[in-house]
Amino acid sequence: MKKPLPSGIPRTTRHVKTQWGNVEYRAWGLGDQSVLLQALTGDTSNEVRADALSQIMRSGVTSYSKGDVSEMPLFLAELVLLKMRALSIGEEAVLYKQCQHCEPGKVEFKFNLEELSIQTFEGHKDSLTIGDYTFKFRYPSFRGTLEVGVLETLTNFSERVVVKFIESVCTEDEVYLMDDYNEDEQVEFVKDLGADLQVFVFEKFIQLMPCVAIDLHGSCDKCGTEDHQHVKGASKLFSI
Ligand SMILES: [Zn+2]
Repeated sequence: MKKPLPSGIPRTTRHVKTQWGNVEYRAWGLGDQSVLLQALTGDTSNEVRADALSQIMRSGVTSYSKGDVSEMPLFLAELVLLKMRALSIGEEAVLYKQCQHCEPGKVEFKFNLEELSIQTFEGHKDSLTIGDYTFKFRYPSFRGTLEVGVLETLTNFSERVVVKFIESVCTEDEVYLMDDYNEDEQVEFVKDLGADLQVFVFEKFIQLMPCVAIDLHGSCDKCGTEDHQHVKGASKLFSI
């Protein structure tokens, strides 16, 4: 009788240490990879894509110092996904862009996914004090990804959106967690505060939010013109 094949052999893990938490991750499995490919190709709704990414995060992240993976700031999750991709299918990646100086030429950007980092912006604030009250904001996460798409203009930034970014309000001796209140109570509370809070959250928190970034250098394969791109946000890099 043959012995059962061994199981539970540990896979290599790596770490990302950031001010938003430390993450231990491992390469994704082949099943996860096909989920990812399905999510990234074709006409995929944001919801399907978020579900797929969240499934891969749950399978590849072995620990997150701040707790639940689904609450991880989106920009950190993006970095971890790209690092998992590097560990799973290789660090080298290539992006192509049409040359701006000659018609048939294309610029090839070769880069190493390990060079990705999180860029921060001066003036970004994740809390606000009004009188005796301090508002603490929370970053969009996979759980709340669907709201992120509407955040391009202040016009879309209603009370219903702003409440999603308030984690808590505290005074010297009281803490109010927004999750303890229902949506109507939250919206009433934010309405009472007027537009100042909305503008602050939009301009200082959302617009200056950290993001995954990388510098790319390449040259045209026809005319040789050199090109430099500073790419922000992982969405462009996910498709490689
Ligand atoms: Zn060219």
